Amino acid sequence: MPSTPEFQQTVGKMAGFTGIALHTGEKVTLRLHPAPVDHGIKFRREDLQDEPTIDAKIDNLKMVERATTIGEGSVRVHTVEHVLAALCAMGVDNAIVEMDANEPPIGDGSAQPYVDLIKKAGVTAQEEPRKFFDVREPMHVEAKTGALLVLLPDDKFRISCTQAGPNNQFTQFLSLELTPSIFECEIAPARTFVYYEDVEALMDKNLIKGGSLENAIVVRGEAVLSKEPLRFSDEFVRHKILDIIGDLALVGRRIRGHVVAVKPGHAANAELARALAREQTRRSAMSTPRAIPIGDSGLDTGEVMNILPHRYPFLMVDRVIGFEGENKITAIKSITINEPFFQGHFPGHPVMPGVMQVEAMAQVASILLFKLTKTSSRVGYFMSADQVKFRKPVLPGDTIFIHAELTRARGNRMAKTKCYCVVNDAIVSEAELMFTFLDK
Ligand SMILES: [Zn+2]
Repeated sequence: MPSTPEFQQTVGKMAGFTGIALHTGEKVTLRLHPAPVDHGIKFRREDLQDEPTIDAKIDNLKMVERATTIGEGSVRVHTVEHVLAALCAMGVDNAIVEMDANEPPIGDGSAQPYVDLIKKAGVTAQEEPRKFFDVREPMHVEAKTGALLVLLPDDKFRISCTQAGPNNQFTQFLSLELTPSIFECEIAPARTFVYYEDVEALMDKNLIKGGSLENAIVVRGEAVLSKEPLRFSDEFVRHKILDIIGDLALVGRRIRGHVVAVKPGHAANAELARALAREQTRRSAMSTPRAIPIGDSGLDTGEVMNILPHRYPFLMVDRVIGFEGENKITAIKSITINEPFFQGHFPGHPVMPGVMQVEAMAQVASILLFKLTKTSSRVGYFMSADQVKFRKPVLPGDTIFIHAELTRARGNRMAKTKCYCVVNDAIVSEAELMFTFLDK
């Protein structure tokens, strides 16, 4: 799987479908459009003058009763959680969701129609790294309803959920890791369910004109009423997980953490999303752009110098912060005004030379190759640099995160690597570097 899931993605082309809005019962057309990097998900109301857009961000959350409503100014979009869950779980970071009404088509009450739509549009990688929210310590929120959400550190996005109906009827539990294929098979088809007592009043007031057994499962006492039989014996907890994904999508970053949810609901989900957004704001306000782990997962300067023969002023790696599997490495180099090259490049206008970034990438790649081959009798030579791009200037005070990935290897004779230098979550340079191994 040499694809690059750490890169932002958008939809490949425009795609849309038409259906019925839950609350008004009227026809609505929804279209997904591609959007540039760092755009996030925005809803566009093409039925209103000037076609206003609403950012799918927790700051714009307006209501969490029965469904999630976001808005800016006087403009609203209702019931956004299922389409947001599908976009987030299928890996779409940037898109415009255009609608000619104030809520998406309800479909069959699940996220299936949106998954089908995303697959029709296709998903395509973009050129900037994804923004993550890494859970560093446990967080939790509780609500009066009995809802409890705990978020624990994890290197994947996982959800473990327990749902229970009145008198603990329909108590169900499910735990899974969120990947596009698991979402598509296990979560997306799970439909909305409602308790008859809760919707009775709304039906009487004609507030859910589009509601029917075609787009919701109705629970009345012991009876489960729906147009088609249950799709899973634990369909309810699966839908609860779907709503958690959709509501947490309002954080606007990919979560690396484990959500443990007991009797969750939109209000508690939104509370957790708010807590994450607050924590993110706090982290962004701190000067360190990213936490740099210390410990045995990486290599300290001494260990780097045991592997690389380079020395001042040519050692371009301060520390290896980690390896991912066999084929990936991330290292850092802090750039200070004391770097010797700033004296001449350029006086009064210090910019790190691009070739020094290529050198840094080559040094990091050779640490990865050294770890792979472990053949001390052979030494690697830098053979070629292709697809070299310098995207942004690197200035004194920057910390460069240098990523290298092995993309091709022929025995222990030749290796090809794809490398990136990243500063503040933006790629500043990249290159494909090739090495060959010769006997010493
Ligand atoms: Zn739902």
